[in-house]
Order: sequence, then C-alpha cells, then structure tokens
Amino acid sequence: MKRTVVPIPKKSKLVLVGNGMSGYKFCEKFLKYHLYKKFDLVIYGEESRPAYDRVNLTRYFTSPGELTLAPASWYKENNMLLKTGEDVTYINRVEKWIRTRRGTIEYYDKLILATGSSPFIPAIEGLNNPHVFVYRTIDDLVAIKERMCGCGSALVIGGGILGLEAARAVLHSGLTTTIVEIANHLMPRQLDFEGAKLLQSQIEALGVKVLVDKKVIRLTGKEGGIEVGCADGATLNTDMVIIAAGITPRDDLAVSGGLTTGIKGGIVVNNYMLTSDPHISAIGECAMAHNRIWGLAAPCYEMADVLAARLANIYKVFRGDALFTKLKVLETRVAFIGDGMDADNSQRHYSVIESHAGVYKRITVSGDGKQLLGAILIGDISAYSNLLHMVRSRVRIPDDPMLLICNPQTQGKSSVGDWPEDTIICLCESVSKKTITDTITVGGIARLDQIKKMTHAGTGCESCTNVIEEIINLYKEHAKHNVNETKL
Ligand SMILES: Cc1cc2nc3c(=O)[nH]c(=O)nc-3n(C[C@H](O)[C@H](O)[C@H](O)COP(=O)(O)OP(=O)(O)OC[C@H]3O[C@@H](n4cnc5c(N)ncnc54)[C@H](O)[C@@H]3O)c2cc1C
Repeated sequence: MKRTVVPIPKKSKLVLVGNGMSGYKFCEKFLKYHLYKKFDLVIYGEESRPAYDRVNLTRYFTSPGELTLAPASWYKENNMLLKTGEDVTYINRVEKWIRTRRGTIEYYDKLILATGSSPFIPAIEGLNNPHVFVYRTIDDLVAIKERMCGCGSALVIGGGILGLEAARAVLHSGLTTTIVEIANHLMPRQLDFEGAKLLQSQIEALGVKVLVDKKVIRLTGKEGGIEVGCADGATLNTDMVIIAAGITPRDDLAVSGGLTTGIKGGIVVNNYMLTSDPHISAIGECAMAHNRIWGLAAPCYEMADVLAARLANIYKVFRGDALFTKLKVLETRVAFIGDGMDADNSQRHYSVIESHAGVYKRITVSGDGKQLLGAILIGDISAYSNLLHMVRSRVRIPDDPMLLICNPQTQGKSSVGDWPEDTIICLCESVSKKTITDTITVGGIARLDQIKKMTHAGTGCESCTNVIEEIINLYKEHAKHNVNETKL
C-alpha cells in the first residue's frame, strides 16, 4: 500500500526585541492564542534578568524577589528562547535579520519591537556626577540603594508620577527629601492646579520639601555631595540627585532601520500595531499609536493583545481608551481618568474640595452635559470604578453631574450589578464581567487572589481590583451553592 507522508508545515520565526512589561505580556498572549503552532519565538532582552513588574518597581527596596513576572524556566518550558543581557543594535529590513551588540545575527519572518522608553534627561550641566541617578530599572535601584546607605539627603528632579514614586522610596529610606518641579504644580500632566496644591500640602506634611516653578540648570560636585543650581539663582545642597522627569520612547533601533517615527519620537503604528514595514510591529511605550505615546501599563498590554490576536488572524483593533490609573502618591490615594488637562473650551468642569479631609474630586463633562470625559480624584477614590465605567462605556450621565462626585454612594452611581455582562472589567487582560461572575457563580470561587489567578483579571495595572471585589461581594452568595470548602 502506498503511503502519503504529510509534511509538517515549517514554522515561521518571530523575533521579539525587548523583554519588559509589554514584551512579557506578548509572550503570555503568544500562548493564549496558540501562536506556538505557527511561530518559533526568540526574545532578546537588554536587561540581565527576565521581565519584571516595573509598575511596582519601588517594591524592590522591600521585597525584591517578588517583582519577576515569570522566571527564565517559564520561557523554556513554553519553548520560547529568551536571551537576556543581549541588546539588538541593528535591523536589516531588506534581508530580514537583526544583529545584537554581541554580533549575533538572527533572521526573522516577523519582528516585534517592544523596546519601551528611557528616562527623559533635561539639559542640565554636570550630569556626569557619580551621585546622579535615574529611576527606571532594577539596576538603577541597586545603584540608588547603594548610595542611600551612605547619605542623608536626596533631591528628585521631576514632580510627576515617576518623581513622586522616587521621592516615596527615598523618604521611606529615612533620607531628607526634596522634590523640584519645573511646572507651577505637581503632576502637571494629570492634575489641575487646585488638586495639585492639595496633594502638595499632604506631601509636605510628611516632611518632604516641594519646590515648584523651579528649573534645575546645574549640578556641581561638592564635598562628597552635590550643589544644585537653579535658573532663578537659588542653590540647594544634597547628597544625591534622582532624575525622574518623564520618558522618551526608545525608537533608536527603529530609526536606524528606517521605520517611520513621530516628530517627538515613537515608532508610528496603525490600529493593528503594524509599523511602516508590514513585517515589523511595535508595542508598548516605544510605539506611537493614535498619534501619542501611551506611558501606562494598561494600553501597553492592550497593544500586546491586539498584536498577538492579529498574528492568530483574529482582528482586534487598538482602542486606546482614555488614559486612566489609580496610584498611591506617597501616602495619598490618587486616581485619574482621561486627559482632563487637554480639555477644549466647550467642556465643563465640576469639582468638590474638602481641604480638612484632604479630598479633591473633579470631573470633566462634554459640552452638551451628556457624557463624562474624565476625572481627577485625590484622597477619596471610591468613585473611581464607577466613573471609569461611565467614561469607557459612554453612558448618559445624570442631569446634575455633581451627583457623581458629591454623594456617589447614594446618587449618580450605577451599580456594577447593572453593568452589561460584556463590560470589560480588566482592560489589561480583556476580562469581561461575565467571565468573573461565571468564575464565582459557576466555578464557586469567591476570593480575589484566586479569581486573579483563574481569569488573569487584575494582574496588570491593578486598577480594576476594587471592581472585582465589588463583583465578588455581589455574587458571593451564589458561589456558596457551588463551592467546596477548599475553594473558599
Ligand atoms: C517607577 C515607575 C512607576 C510606574 N508606575 C506606573 C503605574 O502606577 N501605573 C502604570 O500604569 N504604569 C506605571 N509605570 C509605567 C509602566 O511601567 C510602563 O508603561 C511599562 O513598563 C511599559 O512597558 P514596555 O514593555 O513598553 O517598556 P519596558 O517595561 O521599559 O520594557 C522595555 C524593555 O526593552 C528593553 N530594550 C530596549 N531596547 C532594547 C534593545 N535594543 N534590545 C533588547 N532589549 C531592549 C529594555 O531594556 C526593557 O527591559 C511606571 C514606570 C516606572 C518606571
């Protein structure tokens, strides 16, 4: 009998440059969409360790071991070839290969750039001082920690999210802490003047010196420390300086390969994460999608999902919902949704301030008063999930928008129970309300940590964890009927 041998189709080679948060998320999605059936994946990471949780970088000072997203063995077990400590320096798009600093040449069928960003370094004289640091990688924190042991004060340049995060780290290490911000208030990209002033007073109450409207122009080494010279003639003395003044997308590799980049940097991509070369995609902070750089984890994760889905021939598009996050700024809870600061003249703003309680809430509403566009919450962020839902699902808001922030517990608040089943609760992982309620009611699981493990919801930027908790509270009674003791 004649036998027909069916040849095993040869897999294509997928090369991923960058093993940071977006690169790692892509690896997870590579498994989710069974891309291993079509592709062999090789990953090049410049850092010496596998991807870690940069959002919680400051935890390095207290529990360094917990930051790793997956150990090197996870990549191996899943047949992904991870090469850490090896940065890619050149792309040959004509012959479709890349070269690393060590001289390794790797051919690709499809190339993904997930090179992230680097700290933005303002033009300051005297930067090459050994006591000047940036705040981006574990290696940066190792160096900062070493220096902190031998000094008593630190000055942070930058009063945005990153600067305040760095200030928190040095303050908690017992150093006298100063923050210098060039704009006239803290977190200028996210907060308005009034909200930022309230935040500043709370930060100052912790003993941090905050100087706004001040531009650092010179750093001069003096007696083992640094003299910081400002544009207004003022000088400050400190033992170390941390620069945390924003980010610059790492598009140098793309530029050298002739890919299209934005005027202010960033690799231009379309809604499917494709660059100007149909064989090369870009995701994360290095990518410019919808004409902007997305400097937060959730949109970077969405990009990884959109790209992996497309490689599996599932057509998703990058929506790039409003920027949103909640975080702890030193000891104060802060949340923001949307670009409140980019408001045009037709938009309306409503705010409440309770200075004695350290609470400030501000919402931005469309000119016709029907839609919520953004929010800033300081001190009390309990309305966050409801407001985020309203912005994302574009639901009609109450005629009196003040109800949303004056007394959200009783008025203007839509219960999570009323939200449609297909509402995406976790944007990072695209997990719907239905998936979570099914896990509780059918799967009998009613604990946050277990739901996170089962569904992956809440494992990205963690902004949705309180919504998941609300869903647990609503449905946990149903879980009891289907649960065994070990699950609860
Ligand atoms: C201190 C801090 C706090 C933050 N807090 C928050 C927060 O509260 N909420 C939030 O949503 N986001 C936060 N972020 C932002 C979040 O961490 C980023 O949005 C996210 O890390 C972006 O992921 P990425 O993969 O694009 O970039 P990265 O995580 O930076 O990864 C890029 C990787 O690519 C590597 N690489 C670059 N070039 C090459 C090359 N040529 N070859 C090989 N490898 C290369 C880099 O070394 C890096 O490891 C914070 C960031 C920092 C630094």
